[in-house]
Amino acid sequence: MPEYGARRAAIDDLAEVFPADICRRLDAAGLPAHYVPAQWGGALDSHESLLSIWADLARRDLSAIVAHGKTYLGAAPVWLAGDPRQAVATAEAVLGGTPISWALSEPEHGADLLNNALTATAAADGYRLDGRKWPVNNATRAGLLTVLARTGTPGSGRGHSLFLVDKSTLRPDAWRNLPKVRTHGVRGIDISGIEFSGAVVRASDLIGDPGTGVETVLRTLQLTRPMCSALSLGAGEHGLRIATRFATERIIQQRPLIERPYPRSVLARCAGVLAAVEAVALVAARSIHCLTQEMSVVSAVAKAVAPTLIDPMLSELAEILGVRSYLTTEYAFGAFQKLNRDHRVVAIFDGSTPVNRSALIQQFPRLGRALTSGAADEEELRICASPGTPLPPLQRSALTLLSRPGCSLVQSLAGLPEAVTAANAPDDVIELARAFRMTASRLAASMAQVRPAALPSMAAYELAAAYELCFAAAACLQLWIHGADQYRDEPLWLDAAWLRVALRVLLHRVSAVLREPAPESATADGALDDGITMVLAEAVRTGGPITPFGKAWPPADSETAAGA
Ligand SMILES: Cc1cc2nc3c(=O)[nH]c(=O)nc-3n(C[C@H](O)[C@H](O)[C@H](O)COP(=O)(O)OP(=O)(O)OC[C@H]3O[C@@H](n4cnc5c(N)ncnc54)[C@H](O)[C@@H]3O)c2cc1C
Repeated sequence: MPEYGARRAAIDDLAEVFPADICRRLDAAGLPAHYVPAQWGGALDSHESLLSIWADLARRDLSAIVAHGKTYLGAAPVWLAGDPRQAVATAEAVLGGTPISWALSEPEHGADLLNNALTATAAADGYRLDGRKWPVNNATRAGLLTVLARTGTPGSGRGHSLFLVDKSTLRPDAWRNLPKVRTHGVRGIDISGIEFSGAVVRASDLIGDPGTGVETVLRTLQLTRPMCSALSLGAGEHGLRIATRFATERIIQQRPLIERPYPRSVLARCAGVLAAVEAVALVAARSIHCLTQEMSVVSAVAKAVAPTLIDPMLSELAEILGVRSYLTTEYAFGAFQKLNRDHRVVAIFDGSTPVNRSALIQQFPRLGRALTSGAADEEELRICASPGTPLPPLQRSALTLLSRPGCSLVQSLAGLPEAVTAANAPDDVIELARAFRMTASRLAASMAQVRPAALPSMAAYELAAAYELCFAAAACLQLWIHGADQYRDEPLWLDAAWLRVALRVLLHRVSAVLREPAPESATADGALDDGITMVLAEAVRTGGPITPFGKAWPPADSETAAGA
C-alpha cells in the first residue's frame, strides 16, 4: 500500500478537501480488489487481511480510509444477497475504481431502519424511488448506491427492500446530489446525500427478494461492524505513537517528561487499552470465518467496545500532549487533534454504541443461559485466536440474526484460568483470569433477569457494556495462550507484559461499569508500567510495533514520520 504523509493529510483536512490523490493511489495499489470476494475476481478471502490493511492505513489518515473503505460497505450487501449478475457487475465496478455508497440514513430516520421513509413503488418497468438519503458517505462521488427503500408497511420487518442503484441509468431530472455536509472530523470527505423524485430503477436492481432489505442490512452489518474496529485501532496506534514520542522529547525541569511516573503510567495504560482493542478486532474479524453463526453478537460487541475504549484513551493521551493536542498545525502537523476529531465518528456510524448495545440486549436471555453453561467450541476458538493462520471461506448463509450458541469467546472464560495456568502464565494473569470468570458468572445471573423490552433499562445497557469488556478480556487471554510460543521473544510478550496491562485496565473498567469496588493496585504495577513505557519508547524510536500483533512503522522523513 502506498506511503502517504501526515502533512498532506493535515493540509487536506484544514482545507476540507477530499483526499482524492490518496484515494487514487489506493486504487492504483489494488485496494479495491480487497473489497471483492475471490469468487468474483477479487482478493477478499480473509477479513483479517482486510482488517490489517485498513488498520495500517487508518493509523496514517482516518479520513482517507473512511472515504475509500465505504465501497466495501456499499458492495457487501450484494455479496450477501445479490444474484450472480449483480455480483459480477458490482465486482467489475469496484475493481474498475467506481466508488459505491451505502444509503441507509435519512434526515428523519437514522438508525430506525424499520421506519425508513424513502419509498420504492412498483411500476410497470420496475420501481419508482421517491425520497432522500442523508447524510451518506460518498453519496455524490459514488457511481452505484445500495439504497434501502420502503416497499411495504412501515415498522414491519418485511416492509423494506434493498436496491442496487446505478446513477447512470436514471433519468437525469429524477434525482440530485445533496450538498456536502461540513463535519467535526473527517472534514474533507464526501458526506452528502441523494434525493430521488420519481427515479425509476429496474426490477432487476432489487437485491434479494422484496421485503428482505432490513434483514440483508442486518446481516451485512455483521461483516462491516468488526471492520470498523480497524479505524479505532489505527487512530489509537497513531495517537499513542505521537504521545510517546512527545513524552520522550519534551524536557520538563531539565528532564524528559517520560521519566515521570505519571505519564509512564498513562502511556502503559493506553498501551493496554490498545492491545485489548487489537485483540477484539483480530478475534472478531477472524470470527467472521470460523464462528459465523455467532456474528450477530460478535459484531455488535466489537463495534461498541472498540471506540468506547479508544475515545477515552485519546483523551488521556491529549493530557500528556498538553497544548499540542489542541493546536491544528503544530507538532506532527497537528495530527493528534485531527485523529482525535476523526475518531469521534466511529462510535456514531454503522450503528452507534447504544444501537449495538440494544441489539445485544435483545439476545440477553440466550446469552445469559449460554454463559452459565460455559459451552464453547474450543477448536473454533483456537482458529479464531491464531492470527495469520489460514481461515475457512466465509459461509454467507451462516450469518443469522440471532446466535443460537451465544458467544463462545465470552463463554470460554469459564475454563480460561485453568488454560492460562497450563500455558505457564504468571500468577497475576491467573488471578486476573479468575476475576473475569467471576465477573462473567455474576453477569450471567444479572442478564438472565433482564426481561425482553422494547425500551430496555439503563441497567441492561450497563450489563451490555460489561459483557463487551468480558469479550475483550477473553480475546486477550485466548490470543496470549495461542500465541505465547510464537511471540515469546517479542518485547511486549516478555512476562506476558501486554496481557497483564490489558487485563488490568479492562478489570478496572468493568468494575466501574458494574459499580463494584475497583481492584487494588499491586506493588508490581509500577514496574510493569515502567517496562511497557520503555518498550513503547524504543518502538517509536526504531519504528517497531507497539501492539502485540502490530506492524512496524519505520521512522521516516518529516512527511511520513511515524507517530508524526
Ligand atoms: C462521517 C459520517 C459518515 C456517514 N456515512 C453514512 C453512510 O455511508 N450511509 C448511511 O446510511 N449513513 C451514514 N451516516 C449516518 C450515520 O450512520 C448516522 O449517524 C446514523 O444513521 C444514526 O443517525 P442519527 O444520529 O440521526 O441517529 P438516530 O437514529 O436518530 O439516533 C439519535 C440518538 O438515539 C440513539 N438511538 C437510536 N436508536 C437507538 C436504539 N435502538 N437504542 C438505543 N439508542 C438508540 C442514538 O444512539 C443517538 O444517540 C454517516 C454519518 C457521518 C457523520
